[in-house]
Amino acid sequence: MSKKNVSKEKSIRSTKLTVELIFTGAILCAGAFGLKGVLDQNKVVLKSQYAEDTDVSIEVPTEADPNQVVFSSIDVPSADVSKGDLILVNDEHQYVSDGSENLVNINELNESYGITFFSAFEDDYTIISQAYQPMADLLSDYYNQFFDDTITIYGSYRTNDFQRQLYEADLEQTGEEESTRVAKPGSSEHETGLAFDLSETVNYDYNGEGDQAWINENCYHYGLILRYTEDKQDITGFEPESWHFRYVGIPHAYYITKNRLCLEEYIDLLRGNFPYTGAHLEFSDDSGVDYEVFWVPADTESGTTSVPVPEGLKYTISGNNVDGFIVTVYKNRPAATAPGEPQVQEETSAAEEDPAAETEEETAEAADDAESGDSEDSAE
Ligand SMILES: [Zn+2]
Repeated sequence: MSKKNVSKEKSIRSTKLTVELIFTGAILCAGAFGLKGVLDQNKVVLKSQYAEDTDVSIEVPTEADPNQVVFSSIDVPSADVSKGDLILVNDEHQYVSDGSENLVNINELNESYGITFFSAFEDDYTIISQAYQPMADLLSDYYNQFFDDTITIYGSYRTNDFQRQLYEADLEQTGEEESTRVAKPGSSEHETGLAFDLSETVNYDYNGEGDQAWINENCYHYGLILRYTEDKQDITGFEPESWHFRYVGIPHAYYITKNRLCLEEYIDLLRGNFPYTGAHLEFSDDSGVDYEVFWVPADTESGTTSVPVPEGLKYTISGNNVDGFIVTVYKNRPAATAPGEPQVQEETSAAEEDPAAETEEETAEAADDAESGDSEDSAE
């Protein structure tokens, strides 16, 4: 693992730039509010700004910002671009499993935690380990408010073979050449283990309305997004699905939901506007956690990508399944492990991030009994 400082110079440069922008702004404001009056009141200040060879950035201490993140870099296999919580999976960016998904059995974990308020429709249903706890927390908080214990997981992880069977069955049923209801094999998020479908055990008709609306409106607090919405149908290519949830992690679910994006738009936004070498996406969530997010292109030539990571702060790295990696810095959370150690999967548990997520269970680490399960619903 190579480790080097790569951004101190960048930090200093950006501090200078900020200062210059502030001063430019002050001058423009003076114009806007009537230069004469401002000149009379602030003669000395304005004079110094208009002085010919004033370089205001030189006067400012550049090391004073304690919030400035310092980056080192770690080496990540470029092939890992297809792994992580933020991978985009659709017709254009298919998912090819290497069999390394860390799957956990939903009903077995429920039983070990004494959870009876929801269950998987079939006992062999599995889900990727980091998505189990957010799902359980969401449904636990829902149950505690509405005492509805009819929710069932009607679909979760699917093998590529099973997705193919679903797709072919749908074409046979509809007589169409392509389906907008069932994803092609390789195009389904269910093959990643990061998605699940909800239903209920009375009519098997989950519509996200009535009490269920609470689930759809609050899922982002748990790191989950409603993946196929009506307003994004043109982009996702899918009919709206009020029952299909996708785990992306709390920071990203928060940003995506608050800004009314779909995952396609979010991945594009990061790739196009927030590379490591430029401005980073910075925001805070409702819990007061500050995030800094940026994109790093995968180095496909060398097979290894040098990914900048913050020193001393918690972070996650995820591939985007398109062309690179997304680094998420938790700016007010110290690193849980030694600086420079990757914290890709184990740091994505929603339970420790979300104060709203209060269940009696501990994080779902016991994932060794993973087995692959097929689901029987006919959604994408
Ligand atoms: Zn689904």
